[in-house]
Amino acid sequence: MRRVGFVSLGCPKALVDSERILTQLRAEGYDISDSYAEAELVVVNTCGFITAAVEESLEAIGEALEEHGTVVVTGCLGERPAEIRARHPKVAAITGQADVGGVMREVRRLLPLELDAFSGLLPLASDAGRPEMAHVKLTPRHYAYLKIAEGCDHRCSFCIIPSMRGDQVSRDAADVLFEAARLVASGTKELLVIAQNSSAYGADLRHRPSRFADRPVAASLLPLVRELAGLGAWVRLHYVYPYPLVEELVALMAEGTLLPYLDVPLQHASPRVLRAMRRPGGAESHLSRIRAWREVCSELAIRSSFIVGFPGETEADVQQLLDFLTEARLDRVGVFTYSAVAGAAANALPGQVPEPEKEERYARVMAVQRRISSERLAAKVGTTVQAIVDDYDELPGEVVARTVADAPGIDGVLRCQTDGTVKIGDLIEARVTGSSEHDLSGSCVRRLPWRPAVGSFG
Ligand code: SF4
Repeated sequence: MRRVGFVSLGCPKALVDSERILTQLRAEGYDISDSYAEAELVVVNTCGFITAAVEESLEAIGEALEEHGTVVVTGCLGERPAEIRARHPKVAAITGQADVGGVMREVRRLLPLELDAFSGLLPLASDAGRPEMAHVKLTPRHYAYLKIAEGCDHRCSFCIIPSMRGDQVSRDAADVLFEAARLVASGTKELLVIAQNSSAYGADLRHRPSRFADRPVAASLLPLVRELAGLGAWVRLHYVYPYPLVEELVALMAEGTLLPYLDVPLQHASPRVLRAMRRPGGAESHLSRIRAWREVCSELAIRSSFIVGFPGETEADVQQLLDFLTEARLDRVGVFTYSAVAGAAANALPGQVPEPEKEERYARVMAVQRRISSERLAAKVGTTVQAIVDDYDELPGEVVARTVADAPGIDGVLRCQTDGTVKIGDLIEARVTGSSEHDLSGSCVRRLPWRPAVGSFG
């Protein structure tokens, strides 16, 4: 059997692409090796979003070349082949982002399979929606990312995703639902819905319906998430652009259909900076939306991300962001210093902010948010929460779990004492006994059944 090594870098969306490539490799009869020494060829799925990610990707390609020799590069950085070839001229092949077919074409060329009488009978992973297909997952068994669309119709001035991935292309609802049903049937307890902009899902398809479980389901976020919730797993939404439909999503959260968690990247609070970013809104409109959402769903946990040091950002803009955060009291906040990405329109804007100034602004924003996060978590001490168990902790009986307010990898955890019978993927009810800046601690009250399709997460 021919062996292929695989290196996966980047965001959850890139992780899903890696899973698709690995699934197709397996479906065609390639073995996946976790060591360079055993692999006959290495595929590196790269990230090219910010300068640090480009450097990390180029280093990973260099390491794969050094350790192995035959390397196929794919992913976001693959959209800029000249940059890769300038540093690594010996790369065997380069394909673009989400190009499963391109990777397979190059792997077949460089590492042809010896076909036998039976290999033609192997099923193809491109037969999407077939529950019997073995899908390769890079996340633990109990949660999975579900990519519903690729590309983006917005043109934020700091972002090169639309130029790399093109305008939005959504999957049919039935295609997404068959994949989700298969994941749930094989043990997935939490579906993490992702896209560049989940709110716009289906617009490119004019929301055309497709058939799932003998009924038509429109390619639109609301009907899609209702069906997903019916599968009996937690459904968590990421990358939700603040469109009017968010109010209806929040209503589904209030009734327990979706996790009361909204990952809504706002990027700034100053209308002036947001205009330069080619994004709508400002502190006032953000705040009125957040108030409305919280009125509908008091349990709602809001995660957002912000950029500081954007070209032209003044001290007054930073103060506006700090005031907004103080008022909004978001649960989770990611802050990034602006970094010029090759090809982004914002590179040409006047008023580039010096690096030390960006760092100073970053530190100030983080200090405010750390205080808010500490206070919000401290308020949970004494309450009872639902949590999913991600891992065993160091001491016997201790587990690392996540509440409904925490997404894997980016938010906090709940370290929890149990009677030792709790397993990874279990749903538990826990009493919160302590908190820090980012995490909670507590003790397990009981294990809960998975899961009433509609219910309370409190
Ligand atoms: S909405 Fe997101 S993906 Fe689309 S252009 Fe803006 S930052 Fe990039």
